[in-house]
Amino acid sequence: MDKNQTYTTISSAETKSVAEKIAQTLSGGEVLLLSGDLGSGKTTFTQGLAQELGITRNITSPTFIIMRSYQVPHHKHITILYHLDLYRTENDNDLEGLGLSEILNKKDTITVIEWPEKMGTLLPQEHIRIHFSYIDEDKRKITVTS
Ligand code: ADP
Ligand code: MG
Repeated sequence: MDKNQTYTTISSAETKSVAEKIAQTLSGGEVLLLSGDLGSGKTTFTQGLAQELGITRNITSPTFIIMRSYQVPHHKHITILYHLDLYRTENDNDLEGLGLSEILNKKDTITVIEWPEKMGTLLPQEHIRIHFSYIDEDKRKITVTS
């Protein structure tokens, strides 16, 4: 993906479709930073992404767990999806022990990070930023920058 793009969606299904489209462009090693307010659609987007990767397990918000990993079946290059939600983390201590630097360097994984502003210095230089804005109850603006 080399172009910046903006999408307006009017349902969670549409947000999942945008995620599916983006999932098709991934080849492994990508880090997706999902920013935006609570309820703006970050987890919904992750569900669409996981669905397109063939993951059948239900993706829920890992708020209290920080990170969950999902096996990706039958993909040429991608074996694991990591989903992080840093909303409740307070400092780097909370991130220690996750093995983040190792995960972020793998070429056969996709890492999705909600609340990436909590990453501090651990934030990887190379990433795809996806920002979610709440427009009204069912409407969201999604801006992709890479
Ligand atoms: P976040 O992870 O950013 O806190 P969630 O994805 O958990 O947000 O929640 C978004 C909520 O908004 C869900 O309840 C979803 O059904 C609802 N919603 C309504 N319209 C949309 C839309 N266009 N895109 C994404 N979610 C939407
Ligand atoms: Mg969420």
